[in-house]
Amino acid sequence: MPKKILVTGAAGFLGSHLCDALLADGCTVVGVDNLCTGNPVNLRHLAGESRFSLIEQDICHPFDPGKVDFVFNFASPASPVDYARLGVETLLVGSAGTFNTLDIARKYSAGYLHASTSECYGDPEVHPQVETYWGNVNPIGLRSVYDEAKRFSEASVMAYHRYYGVKTHLVRIFNTYGPRLQPNDGRVISNFMIQALQGEPLTIYGDGSQTRSFCYVSDLIDGIVRLSRSQEHLPVNIGNPDEWTILECAQEVLSVTGSKSEIVLKPLPQDDPTRRRPDITKARTILGWDPKITLRQGLEESLDYFKASVAKASSLTAPEKVL
Ligand code: UDP
Repeated sequence: MPKKILVTGAAGFLGSHLCDALLADGCTVVGVDNLCTGNPVNLRHLAGESRFSLIEQDICHPFDPGKVDFVFNFASPASPVDYARLGVETLLVGSAGTFNTLDIARKYSAGYLHASTSECYGDPEVHPQVETYWGNVNPIGLRSVYDEAKRFSEASVMAYHRYYGVKTHLVRIFNTYGPRLQPNDGRVISNFMIQALQGEPLTIYGDGSQTRSFCYVSDLIDGIVRLSRSQEHLPVNIGNPDEWTILECAQEVLSVTGSKSEIVLKPLPQDDPTRRRPDITKARTILGWDPKITLRQGLEESLDYFKASVAKASSLTAPEKVL
């Protein structure tokens, strides 16, 4: 049955892909975004879509979109460069914003899925990370505005589930990439792709031995939609368990782009996690989900997007981390 869905952060990288998937499934989608990091260009292709509308709204202020059947809460600055720049806004959206969207779900007896993050695990002492691990987070460090906002949101979501019976879901999202990743938000894949395509040196922070596990966006969205239709209320990791050092990731980008760029080493930002890899046993078991796209395939799929981004802004400089 077609449903009416609220997606906050709809103009963002993940939010916009989520809107596409829901519309393709026959849903009507109300997107909300205050455009502080989201980009309306990500939704431009939906201009003629009668089942989609966008409200420009900061979810930190209460609002009422009318009756909805489901809420996906994806609004937050999400890249380390963005949340360092918008620290207080990040804390507010992860507290007041989460409460306001939970109140909408409660009012309309709607389902609710919150976009949480592997950052809840901080610099993990348990590897790979299982959902039952409580994490190793610096509560006052430069990343704390994001990490603690997401942890507070998880507590809020669980409280609305326990005390008010809201049908909630928590996804812990691991590093994700693909088309619409903002070229200037400082993430590793966008930085490396742009640097490689411009013939600039690839900037590795630290010695490049830290690891990440990269999930292609279509795999991630598939896992999230499955979770939203499940009965699971506790957190579920969605990510690709294929783990890469950042140096290996740089080499893969050079190979996919055919670039001759050099690699340069830069200082490692504060509290940069040394390793990250999801244990996805739970998603496999309860959602029947498994990522399908390898890093190489995903980078190839993303190549045209990054080429177009570079062509549009001929003097694009990949930002360095400000943490
Ligand atoms: N990184 C890097 N060079 C860059 C951007 C990032 O070496 O130009 C590193 C960063 O220090 C981290 C990893 O790549 O260890 C992933 O960074 P990103 O900002 O993409 O996400 P994070 O997983 O840190 O939130």
